[in-house]
Amino acid sequence: MENCIFCKIIEGEVPAQVVYENEHVIAFNDINPVAPVHILIVPRLHIPSLNDVEPEHLEVMGHLMLAVKEIARQHEVAAKGYRLISNCGPDAGQVVYHIHFPLLGGRQFGHNLVRKS
Ligand code: AMP
Ligand code: ZN
Repeated sequence: MENCIFCKIIEGEVPAQVVYENEHVIAFNDINPVAPVHILIVPRLHIPSLNDVEPEHLEVMGHLMLAVKEIARQHEVAAKGYRLISNCGPDAGQVVYHIHFPLLGGRQFGHNLVRKS
């Protein structure tokens, strides 16, 4: 998708610190981390947001969830715990309209909302 920063990362046109990739999924460090582990888990397919997930995406979304588990294990947060997010739409503050699942770990979050400052 033209003018999509995450598609550009997927195509290798924009650099990123890629920590995991397979046929369906790529994951890279967030450029503005708010936790010791802050990884964006992204399907290679350009799906704008959770509002746009369709039955035809079942396979890729399943692979994405398996990637979450594997990335949490690799970054040693699986046992201690971590938070998985997806901001959907304006009220959630979605900025990049290529669906992504930030995995946040390495500190405690409690039940407060995630703040960026
Ligand atoms: P949101 O759409 O609200 O989930 O916010 C987009 C997230 O993507 C923010 O946490 C940004 O720091 C992150 N981000 C934006 N551009 C890049 C990039 N080029 N590389 C890594 N992370 C990025
Ligand atoms: Zn995209």
